[in-house]
Amino acid sequence: MSRLEIESVSKRYGDLWALRDVSLEIDRGVVGLLGPNGAGKSTLMRILATISRPTEGRVLWEGRPLTDDPDRLRRTLGYLPQEFGLYPRLTAREFLRYLASAKGLDADERLEQLLSVVNLREAADRKLETYSGGMRQRVGIAQALLNDPDLLIVDEPTVGLDPEERARFRSLLSELGGDRIVLLSTHIVSDVEATAQRIAVLDDGHLRADGPPEELLAAVEGRVWEAVVAADRLPDLRSRYPVASAAHRADGAHVRLVADGPPTENARQVDPSLEDAYLGLMQDGREDGGEGR
Ligand code: ADP
Repeated sequence: MSRLEIESVSKRYGDLWALRDVSLEIDRGVVGLLGPNGAGKSTLMRILATISRPTEGRVLWEGRPLTDDPDRLRRTLGYLPQEFGLYPRLTAREFLRYLASAKGLDADERLEQLLSVVNLREAADRKLETYSGGMRQRVGIAQALLNDPDLLIVDEPTVGLDPEERARFRSLLSELGGDRIVLLSTHIVSDVEATAQRIAVLDDGHLRADGPPEELLAAVEGRVWEAVVAADRLPDLRSRYPVASAAHRADGAHVRLVADGPPTENARQVDPSLEDAYLGLMQDGREDGGEGR
C-alpha cells in the first residue's frame, strides 16, 4: 500500500497565497479534490507531481520527503495535467508507443492492454486529430498509466466533455482505484459523487473539509431547505444564504438553500445532497474568516 502525506503545505506566488497550510494523508483509493476555479487545486497537484515546490511545509511519499529524491516518486507517478498536448498527426497507438519509449518503458504488451482499459482499441490507428474531447482525455489517462503508477494524478479531466463522455470517464476513473491512489480534481460535484471514496474540499487555498461523502453530508444535515417564494424575494435570499437551485414556476420561485434555521415561514427541511454539502462547507469556511490570504 502506498502512502502520500501532505504536511502543512503552503504555496505563495508573489503576494498571493495559492495554498494555505494544507494537510492530507492518503493511502489508497480515489480521492476527489473539489473546489471552485482558483481554489489551488492545480497548484497542489503540480507540487505532488514534483513540478513545483511548496513555499512552506512538505510532502512525503512512502515516508520520505519528495525533495530528498523526487525521482523515487516520478518512477511510479502518472500525471494528466490540465493542458495536455497531443500530437494530432499521430495515431493513438503511435503516440503512446512514442511516450513509452521516451520514458524508457518496454511497453508493447502493456500498450495493448491499456488501449482496452481506456476503450480505444478500435480507434487506436486513427489520427488523434479526429478524436473527440473524451477520447483525447482517455489517451491522456492511458499515457499516465504507462508505468502502472502507484499514484495517479488527474487535473480537471472532465472539462470540455459532454455529459455522456463525462459519465464514461468517471466510471473509468473509479475502476482505476483499487490499491493505487487516484487523485482527481474538479469543480463539479457530480464528478466525485460516484467515484471518490473520499472528498477533500479546497477553497481559497484552504482545506475546508476532508472525509467520505457521508461525512460531508452529515455536516449539513438539518440545514437544507426548500421554499416557494415570490420571485422578487430571491435576491435577498441569495444575499443571505448559499442557494443550491432556484426555478421559476407558476406558483413562484422554488428555491433550495442551506441555512441554520428556516429561511422563510413555509420552508421545508429536505435531505441534503452532496452539492448542498459542498455549498454549505464553502459558506462555513468563509464565515470563519478563512478567506484571508
Ligand atoms: P485551481 O486549479 O483550483 O483553479 P490554481 O491552483 O490554478 O487553482 O490557482 C490558485 C491561485 O493561484 C489562483 O489565484 C491563480 O491565479 C494563482 N496562480 C496559479 N499559478 C500561478 C503562477 N504560476 N503564478 C502566479 N499565480 C498563480
